[in-house]
Amino acid sequence: MAKLLICDPVAPSAVTALKELGIEVDVRDDITPDELAEVISDYEGMVVRSRTKVRAALIDKATRMKVIIRGGVGLDNIDVAYAEGKGIKVCNTPKASTNAVAELALGLMFALARRTPYADRSMKAGRWEKKALKGTELADKTLGIIGYGRIGRELGRKARALGMRVIAYDPYITHEDIVPLDELLKEADYISLHVPATPETLNMLDAAAFAKMKEGVYLVQAARGGVVNEQALYEALTSGKVAGAALDVYTEEPPKSTLLQKLIALPQVIATPHIGAATREAQQRIGDEIVALAKTYLT
Ligand code: NAD
Repeated sequence: MAKLLICDPVAPSAVTALKELGIEVDVRDDITPDELAEVISDYEGMVVRSRTKVRAALIDKATRMKVIIRGGVGLDNIDVAYAEGKGIKVCNTPKASTNAVAELALGLMFALARRTPYADRSMKAGRWEKKALKGTELADKTLGIIGYGRIGRELGRKARALGMRVIAYDPYITHEDIVPLDELLKEADYISLHVPATPETLNMLDAAAFAKMKEGVYLVQAARGGVVNEQALYEALTSGKVAGAALDVYTEEPPKSTLLQKLIALPQVIATPHIGAATREAQQRIGDEIVALAKTYLT
């Protein structure tokens, strides 16, 4: 019987379905790196989300491992090439969270346009700031989407249905919405990022990029921490170049640095704790895909 270690939280129904496949499942979704290093050699399979890091030193100890399943999209917490070099299959569940992240990005755009989180805070504090809360509308605005893959294109489809003009930048695909990056930065009223974390996308939006943007642009960052340079964003927000930003991902999670605390405290920033894929539906789909992958590689 194959043994599978679940290192991060997955839907309970998936655990039941995995056991029904005849797999011996150990759920240790709060396992520490030291504990993991001690037990990893017992398992043919492991399931991780984004919390557990699977680096070369751990892979060296995973002598029986056949498959590493990442529930979610980004594989930046796993040394994929190293694992595959050792004959271990690495897979993820890329489609399961597409709609959840696209809906969050859209919701954050509405929240930036109407400042609903601020309005709610001020009501709870007993104020009635009707006059100060004149917002803007999304219809007829230009949305620039950086990274036009699954999430980017789904967001584009939804935004177009709201009457927005959609342009995108993605050097790796061909699509009629694609424009050069400089044109996107210059024309967009809203910019939403949906690129993976790669050496090329690190600090992709830096001070030079902010300088090229429209005065009063809004930014949504629900891709991966580090794609936006947080110092440059802080300066662009305090100078007024960027009117508002919504952040779901950070270079440090949870964010503790002085810079991140200052950034999150700005009234024109809306911050969420990496909840892009955190819907019941996406978690169920991720669980179903994990079960299908385990069935393929462990039974
Ligand atoms: P995807 O692979 O379908 O799309 C990513 C796109 O980015 C691809 O089309 C690729 O060509 C493009 N790209 C790569 N390098 C680029 C560059 N330098 N400039 C412009 N475009 C570039 O992935 P997806 O499913 O759409 O997910 C996108 C990202 O969203 C993931 O990599 C992940 O980091 C992030 N994500 C975040 C959450 C969250 O909770 N906030 C959840 C899921 C995914």
